[in-house]
Amino acid sequence: MQLYNTLSAEERAQLIDEAGKERLTLSFYAYAKIEDPKKFRDELFIAWNALDALGRIYVANEGINAQMSVPADQFEAFRNTLEVYDFMRGIRLNVAVEQDNHSFLKLTIKVRHKIVADGLNDKTFDVTNKGIHLKAQEFNNMLEDPNTIVVDFRNHYESEVGHFEGAITPDVENFRESLPIINEQLQDFKEDKNLLMYCTGGIRCEKASAYFKHQGFKNVYQLEGGIIEYTRQIKEENIESKFIGKNFVFDHRLGERITDDIISQCHQCGKPCDNHTNCANDACHLLFIQCDECKEAMENTCSTECLETIHLPWEEQVALRKGLQVGNKVFRKGKSDALKFKNSGDMSTQPLGKVTIKPETKDIRQKIKVKKTLIGKAEHYYSKSKIAQFLIENKELSIGDKVLISGPTTGEQEVIITQIYANGVPCETAKVGDQITFELPFRVRLSDKLYKIV
Ligand SMILES: [Zn+2]
Ligand SMILES: [Zn+2]
Repeated sequence: MQLYNTLSAEERAQLIDEAGKERLTLSFYAYAKIEDPKKFRDELFIAWNALDALGRIYVANEGINAQMSVPADQFEAFRNTLEVYDFMRGIRLNVAVEQDNHSFLKLTIKVRHKIVADGLNDKTFDVTNKGIHLKAQEFNNMLEDPNTIVVDFRNHYESEVGHFEGAITPDVENFRESLPIINEQLQDFKEDKNLLMYCTGGIRCEKASAYFKHQGFKNVYQLEGGIIEYTRQIKEENIESKFIGKNFVFDHRLGERITDDIISQCHQCGKPCDNHTNCANDACHLLFIQCDECKEAMENTCSTECLETIHLPWEEQVALRKGLQVGNKVFRKGKSDALKFKNSGDMSTQPLGKVTIKPETKDIRQKIKVKKTLIGKAEHYYSKSKIAQFLIENKELSIGDKVLISGPTTGEQEVIITQIYANGVPCETAKVGDQITFELPFRVRLSDKLYKIV
């Protein structure tokens, strides 16, 4: 019985493209009492794998928290897999505003201690004594009330690109960190103010509202279904959006546009921009905001160090990385001294700009598009001598040309050709039908594609 992924993300992306079927990105959560999370996890994996459902899911004794991509034509079948469980009967599925068939490329279901890392000891307060749930219009009405304090329970990189008008946006990296900070800040308002809270899909507020009631806050309200459900309701009922900008999401899309206002800046040049990206240096992978011009100039990296690193031969990059801890362990997530225009903490909702063209949602990793022509495929790799063999099937290849070698295992590697042997003889230019060899510092796989960059 298959209980884990057998396909890589790249292989999965290719299958999705070939199938050409629409997929739905959705999320849901439920607090419940689950006796055997491991067994529950395996049941879900088997049922969802059969439907080609993908996503990142956490299960625990306290419930389930799921972010998923499901084939649109399997939506009802998927819902039926949830109906099997009493606590998920009739559950609300938050369907994303903008769709992307590549939002998730694996089915990962993890058993955790908790479904949200909140750092709370649930035994010390009544987790079922939650805040009052508000629908979009009710939420808007309460925002108008001068007696209301509205708090964003998300992280600095989420609120930076979009938030509700007048919201307190704590400068925190995670939910756990935000609870004591907000509690401290609002001590004087326990009795008479309305504490209005929101997050992405509602799950963080479920626990937080109970915690704040326990802390003595009298009037606690939460946005039902979070920003995702709010957006659905304002569109359906034609309600004015009090949320400005983009809703950050935790899949390849990294954000859904709610209004056409841009409230954040490119972290490198300061111009209005709200496109998050991850640094192209795999040893860094910093999450930051980068405009198209900086993306091109910096080749999708966060700093000159990272730009230099990605141009080193692959082997040197790997050597450099040894002993380094990757990603958010190196930097505070989304923060680095290299980013001159990073903002967090108190933020205004003053738009800095407007979106003029509809953002490209298909380009999932938001990498720069290079113009390239397919010219051949890999036939062999001689590991000992580090020589790769390709067959030229289209156009020609000359010394000095820049090529891209791409494949599921190889990834995307750019190389400048300094030497070519065609059919065993050194030459300047190889033509269609030539079997060529040249040195490469990395292994290529059978049928890896060879592109000329133009
Ligand atoms: Zn820029
Ligand atoms: Zn970087």
